[in-house]
Amino acid sequence: MRTITIKSKALTHNLNQVKQRAPQSKVLAMVKSNAYGHGVAAVLPALQQADGIGVATLTEALEARQLGWEKTIGLVEGAFTADEWQQAIDHEISCVIHHGPQLEWALQNVPPAGSATRVAWLKYNTGMNRLGFNAEGVLSAAKRLHKAGYQLILATHFANADDHDHPLNAMQIERFSSVLTTLKDTISPDIQGSLCNSAGIVNFPEHHYDWVRPGIILYGSSPVVDQSAQELDLQPAMEFSAQIIALQTVSANDAIGYGSRWRAKQDTRTALVSVGYGDGYPRVVTDDAYVTVMDANDSQSYCCPVIGRVAMDMIVIDISSAPESLAIDSKVMLWGDAPRVDEVAGHAGTISYELLCRLSIRPNRTQA
Ligand SMILES: *Cc1c(COP(=O)(O)O)cnc(C)c1O
Repeated sequence: MRTITIKSKALTHNLNQVKQRAPQSKVLAMVKSNAYGHGVAAVLPALQQADGIGVATLTEALEARQLGWEKTIGLVEGAFTADEWQQAIDHEISCVIHHGPQLEWALQNVPPAGSATRVAWLKYNTGMNRLGFNAEGVLSAAKRLHKAGYQLILATHFANADDHDHPLNAMQIERFSSVLTTLKDTISPDIQGSLCNSAGIVNFPEHHYDWVRPGIILYGSSPVVDQSAQELDLQPAMEFSAQIIALQTVSANDAIGYGSRWRAKQDTRTALVSVGYGDGYPRVVTDDAYVTVMDANDSQSYCCPVIGRVAMDMIVIDISSAPESLAIDSKVMLWGDAPRVDEVAGHAGTISYELLCRLSIRPNRTQA
């Protein structure tokens, strides 16, 4: 059986780590893309101490409301149509406003006083060059929105926060801080700021502003290039496991799997594991990839390399390090405490975010 287990305690622990790092800020916990593959319904109970949640689409926002989330929901790309803007009002969703048409919908259709949609996240493009107004556009939009009765949160997004010394970071911080000061001075001192994703929270503690927007750090992966999840005291919120379904011994020189890519140097004990790219385990892992096998008999665990091509439904592992008594049915951890999903992502030439988001519907899902 392939199983994805979501660990509530780990989520809460990681949220507390964020709160300790950003004690003055409110937390918008990012749960877009089905909570980075963890499942929104599975993570919301553990995130009750967040001040709000962030999603990327209206559908995701409505799903969270349906699940009973009553606090702030921030729609980080805003409404895509005037009709979506109306639905956002109907369901008390706070929207990012990042371009002219969204600004016009907001000015033509102002939600009632007290509505959560009256809080607008005004997006300033400080250098990422995807969403947002330039400095002049932000100023003029802020004036009009403030006059129409909106409370404003100036927001921007880092392009390189994972790399502390990247020169664009200082530039984005400088632009953001300068425009926020201008808005406070010329429009209202109540205008708030939101700058940091997970990497920004770790790397730029002096620039947390009113709202931080942690994503990957909540799920227990490292957001920065120079510190591991362990070093940051993060706990993996997901354990992805499967089991041994057959045991074999291959003779020296025999090859395993599609393309006969892996060839045994000597007689080698191998095991088949019931997981593959059809579940979301990456096909492209390099020869450094390994899994952890738990031996139910002696409650030990063994580090076993993945050998041969990853197929749709199975992988083969080298169990030379495990005892002969290792049984069919033994549990195999693909990622969790060891290896961490960050390591697997490294072996697959990608980032943890992608591996987590692209898990398929085949694995069973449980919570612990
Ligand atoms: C996804 C997202 C985040 C969270 O990013 P992480 O790198 O996962 O922390 C923060 N802000 C915005 C606008 C996002 O879209």
